[in-house]
Amino acid sequence: MKLFLDRNKTLLPRIDVIYLLTRLMTFVGILWVTFAGDIPAAGMNILYVVLGTFVLHLAIFFAAIKGRFDLKLAYLSAVIYDLLLVPILTMYTGGVDSSFFLLYYLTVSVAAYTLTFWFALLTAVLVTVSYIASILDSFVPANLFDLSLRIGFMWVFILTFSYASEYIRRSEKRLLKLFDTLNKRTSELEKSQAQLEVIYENSRTLASILDTEGVIREVMRILGTVMGYSHYGVLMLDNQGNLYFRSWATKERVHPQPRAIDQARVELICKVFDHGEALRVKDVSKREDYETLDENSCSLIIVPLTAHGRITGGILAEATESGVFQERDEQMLSAVARSAGLALDNAELHRRTEELTVTDELTGTYNYRYFVHKLQEEKRRAARYELPLSLIMVDIDWFKKLNDNYGHESGNAVLHSLARIIQGCVRDVDIFCRYGGEEFAIILPQTESQEALRIGERIREQVEKGPFSGVGHEELQVTVSVGISSFPENGKSHEELVTAADEALYRAKDEGRNLVCTV
Ligand code: GH3
Ligand code: MG
Ligand code: MG
Repeated sequence: MKLFLDRNKTLLPRIDVIYLLTRLMTFVGILWVTFAGDIPAAGMNILYVVLGTFVLHLAIFFAAIKGRFDLKLAYLSAVIYDLLLVPILTMYTGGVDSSFFLLYYLTVSVAAYTLTFWFALLTAVLVTVSYIASILDSFVPANLFDLSLRIGFMWVFILTFSYASEYIRRSEKRLLKLFDTLNKRTSELEKSQAQLEVIYENSRTLASILDTEGVIREVMRILGTVMGYSHYGVLMLDNQGNLYFRSWATKERVHPQPRAIDQARVELICKVFDHGEALRVKDVSKREDYETLDENSCSLIIVPLTAHGRITGGILAEATESGVFQERDEQMLSAVARSAGLALDNAELHRRTEELTVTDELTGTYNYRYFVHKLQEEKRRAARYELPLSLIMVDIDWFKKLNDNYGHESGNAVLHSLARIIQGCVRDVDIFCRYGGEEFAIILPQTESQEALRIGERIREQVEKGPFSGVGHEELQVTVSVGISSFPENGKSHEELVTAADEALYRAKDEGRNLVCTV
């Protein structure tokens, strides 16, 4: 059972100083009675003891106010002290006629203020008993009414005071709880506001990233580092319309390489793509229509990525506990998704524009501008890492004649078909460009001249095989001459490499055409 009322959190004023003042007044009263009152000699010694202990009691109380020890204990000792002091004072200052019984009001007030209801009541009982005991000697039946009033008033006083004190404290408790909830809510709101601002700031930078890889990397960083998710990923559709993870992360690390999704378990994600709305699921661990990123995942949130009203992908997060994702996560992920969707769209647009500026319209290969840029870049890389690099130049034989005989349009058709054939002969890493007119150039990174010669020969052979046809569907015979140069043996700069490949090409022409020559 609790002895003290909880005083740590209270709106009630501190009564310590007031209490100390009333104690000082009591002290003056005792002094007056001791030195100016009509006290029998036997009583004087006791009053001296009372004075001494009272000074001690004041000192203790003063020390408690100064924080030397717990005030609650000081009040409890005051109550106990009064239970002994007041009857003694009463007894030696006239018994039933003594006014010191008024001190009991102070005692019960202190009890009501510091002790819990039942202990305050117990104090009142003890006060009643000690008072009655102190006046028994001087009691006469004529005092009965007077005495009943004194005790009755004191009970009314303590009951009212205790009830009021208890009531205020109970109301206070409710109020303080309300404040606590309010504070918690406010700090939660402030936290989510701050988090939203951080996410907004981070998302804004997405707009400035112009390549898809960069956008994906940044979205992954926001999901992991800024939002603190452990399992998350960016969903996209491939050329066949199948969903896959463009990038994904589990607790251990971020996986930048794509991850396929079991197409038999994409129904749940498809729902998000169909409706274009975010989805939160408390527990996906046993669902057949979704494949989790991690075997321990339980809750899931998916938000679609949209750009100009079109759904282009999605972002999702998983957590190992059930029902983790709240409205707030949806708001934050939606903010990221909005920026990411637009950023990915921008990046794609940028890629297409870039592609256009480096693409030759007629053949679909890279153009001269790109060729020069890439040859410089690859030559620098080859020089830095001491890697081989080769260059192949291809020129159509007697093309002027072909134009003259079959028309410019047929010549164009030949250029287009030739580009497809050459494209089929080179590797993905090779950079195939239209050098100009009916000349093509192929940059072969990390390739020695022997390997370049093999590729050049393959090109020559495949072109010879054709078939080519003009605009009138007439079958045309086309051959090419090929010149090859390699770094570093045929040139240290990209210009020297081009000149060397050109020389080899002219040699092929000189030696009869439909030939492959190295320098
Ligand atoms: P060779 O290279 O075997 O010495 O003879 P060639 O007839 O191919 O010689 P040249 O390089 O002088 O001629 C290139 C011709 O290619 C000239 C031009 O009419 C033609 N040509 C250049 N660009 C295009 C084009 O975009 N379309 C068409 N149809 N012809 C083009
Ligand atoms: Mg030419
Ligand atoms: Mg030519």
